Amino acid sequence: MADYYETLGVSRDADAEQIKKAYRKLAMKYHPDRNQGSADAEARFKEISAAYEVLKDPQQRAAYDRYGEQGLRGGGAGPFGGGFDLHDAIEIFMRDFGGAGGFEDLFGGGARAQRRGGGRRKGESVRVRLPLTLKEVVTGATKRLRVAVLDPCSDCDGTGAAEGSTPTTCGQCGGSGQERVAQRSVFGQFVSVTTCRACGGEGTTIRTPCGTCHGEGRVRVQREVEVEVPAGVSSENFITLRGKGNAGSRGGPSGDIMVLLEVEDDPRFTRQDNHLITDLPITFCQAALGDEVEVETVTGKARVAVPAGTQSGQALRLRGEGIPDLNGRGRGDLLIRVRVWTPTELSREQEELFRRLRDVEDDAPTQVEEAGERKGFWSRVKEAFTTG
Ligand SMILES: [Zn+2]
Ligand SMILES: [Zn+2]
Repeated sequence: MADYYETLGVSRDADAEQIKKAYRKLAMKYHPDRNQGSADAEARFKEISAAYEVLKDPQQRAAYDRYGEQGLRGGGAGPFGGGFDLHDAIEIFMRDFGGAGGFEDLFGGGARAQRRGGGRRKGESVRVRLPLTLKEVVTGATKRLRVAVLDPCSDCDGTGAAEGSTPTTCGQCGGSGQERVAQRSVFGQFVSVTTCRACGGEGTTIRTPCGTCHGEGRVRVQREVEVEVPAGVSSENFITLRGKGNAGSRGGPSGDIMVLLEVEDDPRFTRQDNHLITDLPITFCQAALGDEVEVETVTGKARVAVPAGTQSGQALRLRGEGIPDLNGRGRGDLLIRVRVWTPTELSREQEELFRRLRDVEDDAPTQVEEAGERKGFWSRVKEAFTTG
């Protein structure tokens, strides 16, 4: 396929406005409505729409500039991700240029397009948020949720028609769900096929709507669902409950419930992949002499040995006290960052002992940290500046 820039006839440094203008001009020329089903025009229209779709998006454009079409296919997000057809091309044009002129219904886009074919329509998916504690992430959890969804109306069996009446074939479109209308547009006057306005594409109309659902055939209910949350999830994960979302219309399949997981922050722990990091303040004496201390884990407490001579910032590791791997490949660790705590108020006795210790202790070495570690220090300082 030709270069996208050549396809649109713009230079490689064209700005967004120039790209839009160039596409609009070409789209007016090759739009299927102006070319009486010419296959050549259709092909050109698809080409320019694909080029426009990529170049109008700064990220896609950058990927294309760098890697060509390979960059787009790889990401799966480009217009070639899954069979780019004429319908997609028309939708792109309608989306960016169709709004103002009352174009929306010209070809029937998006949800309306799904109605074609007898009014059976898949129900919408419903999104719901599920807050989780870190403990639930570690142990896994079974959660019950109440979700507002649309169910088929039981009073009319989902038909939308009042008892004793049945939906009748739409007089406007004769049941096809489509009508041919003459429209004025930027192309001039032409006839197009559009979703029937009388029945909304259903092909049938309801004379006496059901009083319960007002003809919609669906009613809002609170659905209680159970969600099995496996151990090891993160806020990037979601769980799909297939077929538990809104009921379809006219017996169409139900949509899904998408459970978006939101792991609450636990100030005690920072997650790094499947490892958890926590801080452990200890005293000079514990650091110098060694000790065994209790630390909090996500699920309880554990004892950890602090070896004699532990430095501030040194990490201790409790194996397997992190987060289980989502795919069952083991568990992360709990990394305990030791912070030697300096007392700020000394009793007379403590001060006396410290002074005696000072008289006999060795001086600190002149160098304790590697240059690389000091960079880590800088990023921590910067973080402290920006957060506090
Ligand atoms: Zn109709
Ligand atoms: Zn009803």
